[in-house]
Amino acid sequence: MKAQAEALSGFRDRFKGRLIGPDDPEYDQARVVWNAMADRRPALIARCTGVDDVIAAIRFARDNELRIAVRGGGHSVPGLSTCDGGIVIDLSRMRGLEIDPKQRVAHVQGGAHLSQLDQQAQSAGLVCPVGVIGHTGVAGLTLGGGMGRLQRKHGFTIDNLLSVDLISAEGRQLHASEDENADLFWGVRGAGANFGVVTSFELRLHPQEPTVTHGWVALPIEKSAEVGALVRDFLTTVPDHVFVNLSFGVATDPPFPPELAGQPVIVVGAVHSGTEKDAERDLRPLREGLGWSADTFSRKSYLALQAMNDDAMSWGHRFYMKSGLVGEVSDELLSTCATEGADVPAGGECSLSFWAMGGAISRVADEGSAFTGRTAGWWLSAEAMWDEPAHDAAHMGWARRAMGALTPFTTVGQYVNDVVETDVGSVRAIYGNEKYDRLVGLKRKYDPDNVFRLNQNIRP
Ligand SMILES: Cc1cc2nc3c(=O)[nH]c(=O)nc-3n(C[C@H](O)[C@H](O)[C@H](O)COP(=O)(O)OP(=O)(O)OC[C@H]3O[C@@H](n4cnc5c(N)ncnc54)[C@H](O)[C@@H]3O)c2cc1C
Repeated sequence: MKAQAEALSGFRDRFKGRLIGPDDPEYDQARVVWNAMADRRPALIARCTGVDDVIAAIRFARDNELRIAVRGGGHSVPGLSTCDGGIVIDLSRMRGLEIDPKQRVAHVQGGAHLSQLDQQAQSAGLVCPVGVIGHTGVAGLTLGGGMGRLQRKHGFTIDNLLSVDLISAEGRQLHASEDENADLFWGVRGAGANFGVVTSFELRLHPQEPTVTHGWVALPIEKSAEVGALVRDFLTTVPDHVFVNLSFGVATDPPFPPELAGQPVIVVGAVHSGTEKDAERDLRPLREGLGWSADTFSRKSYLALQAMNDDAMSWGHRFYMKSGLVGEVSDELLSTCATEGADVPAGGECSLSFWAMGGAISRVADEGSAFTGRTAGWWLSAEAMWDEPAHDAAHMGWARRAMGALTPFTTVGQYVNDVVETDVGSVRAIYGNEKYDRLVGLKRKYDPDNVFRLNQNIRP
């Protein structure tokens, strides 16, 4: 006990940020992460202010045999950025971000949010392809892959990652890029949470006009086959700056028209990141292809679009998901989705979503990084969000059942950031056997003691 108190006191002297323990008035607020299902009680939360604090926290944790959770934006679906009894290395005070408009590069600290990157890049007329909810952390999203509305045009976020600075399990500062520690850089792009605490990301930016065209069209779920056929044709004709998503769920509030309210629907969304004239031309086959019950397409600012669902996906809800990658949205697959999408439990929101891949994603070699499955046509997810713990079983049960029915349609690979189960079999399935074995080799080299294990863990 005395030795522990002395160790903590020594750590306090070295640590420049804030250490928050269970007796601290801020503790109950500081331990909260995005998914309310992850209600954990760490022994210590170390709010780091910079690289030296991260190094001190890793050393303190190792010397005192504390489990380490690393927290960027706190949005891990399984709640892997917190723990019971261990230490949380919390980067929420490390949100610095610098844009170099000439080089078209962003330097982003490990605790920054997507909205910061979106806003600062756009203030220079630039963009980095990231995810669709502004309060998500750049760190966790990028280390897993980074899917979003510009993925067909500019690839995943990892396809725009130039380098990282990370603190290794030994507390050493490492730089990883194509030219330096290239093996580590390969692993960081898709399995990044396994190898250290990334304190800084260097990301490539692209020119992007401030306004895009976005909207969706919808029909009752019985029309899924017609919608699917149209979407398949549409995708063969559109350029990479058109992103398409499909979803199955129950129409709730406006802007769904009254005749769809409360009914299971199929929705086709699209974002066109080119000019208004091009968007009108390119989106016409979709908008005029069927007699839609709703059509919400309009011009809007890219930043407004990126923030559009931030409130709907705010902190504090309970959330569960399963996902997979599929080659094609076949009639049989859509029919299964229509069945599962209409059979959702009460008391929450459940949906099946598809995001079109292809374009820039498919022009990067799959072997080029740990991320596996980029040749798939679509990412598919079953997502459930609710508030009452009494509804846990029904909502998790629905997502498992729906994805169980859809698994026969899936191809190799899975998006690590969606995977809630962290047993070896589930993690192998993310990367496939060959890449998993290569990742084990990297883990043995960079983290042989598995110090960073609160993640979809590669066992050394
Ligand atoms: C509301 C919501 C919307 C989402 N939207 C998208 C989307 O549009 N596109 C998409 O691709 N994904 C999306 N995701 C998934 C998201 O990418 C992952 O949940 C991601 O892990 C979140 O990153 P974070 O930094 O916020 O999470 P955290 O919970 O902080 O961390 C997630 C994982 O990364 C590790 N980690 C975090 N920071 C670091 C670091 N600096 N160094 C090393 N390891 C670190 C953690 O230990 C943990 O294992 C979404 C998730 C949510 C909850």
